[in-house]
Amino acid sequence: MSAAAARDARIFCVANQKGGVGKTTTTVNLAAGLAQVGRRVLVVDLDPQGNATMGSGIDKRTLDLSVYDVLLGNCTLAEARQPSPKGGYDVLGANRELAGAEVELVDLERRERRLKEALAAVADGYDFVLIDCPPSLSLLTLNGLCAAHGVIVPMQCEYFALEGLSDLVNTIRQVHANLNPELQIIGLLRVMYDPRVTLQQQVSEQLKSHFGDKVFNTVIPRNVRLAEAPSYGQPGVVFDPAAKGAQAFIEFAREMVARLGRPAGVAAPA
Ligand code: ADP
Ligand code: MG
Repeated sequence: MSAAAARDARIFCVANQKGGVGKTTTTVNLAAGLAQVGRRVLVVDLDPQGNATMGSGIDKRTLDLSVYDVLLGNCTLAEARQPSPKGGYDVLGANRELAGAEVELVDLERRERRLKEALAAVADGYDFVLIDCPPSLSLLTLNGLCAAHGVIVPMQCEYFALEGLSDLVNTIRQVHANLNPELQIIGLLRVMYDPRVTLQQQVSEQLKSHFGDKVFNTVIPRNVRLAEAPSYGQPGVVFDPAAKGAQAFIEFAREMVARLGRPAGVAAPA
């Protein structure tokens, strides 16, 4: 590995094809948590709903340039990114326009590698890139998976959670085999956890026995402050740092750094 490559960002997709499982909450709060422990972070919003964009304090309705323009080659990533006003990280935003990219990309060359190529130009400016994926296994998600070193899978400890996981695991296997040999599952993150619910305890135990150390130690509790924060255009970690949910995401950021990161401001050895 060259010295330059060793300094490049670690790139992770936050993915789960189910909607409402906590992908966006995980993306923006992990980003803010990593920023607070001194890491340079870029969030890529790959969901036409633009929730990661809004939750980072950027108005999706007034975006001049977005991830759509980057994927279609209308501009560079450096031109389209902007800082989250309170988050401490940069954002490549998305809005409804991105829904059209799915169709427009089909005719382009190397259609599943557009994001990877765009990120290569800025990767040495960040320690971490976090890609917030849409709730589907679409060409957009495929762009995310092709660009990433790994996948973080947020999941609720509910009865059907394991069932949904097998589709995602199969997709990741296929991308690993055919498109991106670097791709791996970094870990499963238990979110919206309520330890008083026996079923959640049971599913949590099942997850650990099935997936072993692929299950992150940190558990994100159900916490209303995390749900309130997006309407203030802030990650929960910034909005109410003392809240249990915020504390858990800071803990998760530390766990991520310990697992794969490197000391702040120091290049990894070549
Ligand atoms: P996804 O991106 O997978 O669709 P979101 O992150 O948008 O999921 O979360 C879905 C909903 O659940 C949102 O309203 C969000 O605010 C809420 N939510 C997410 N995580 C938590 C949590 N730990 N505690 C309470 N509410 C949460
Ligand atoms: Mg989302």
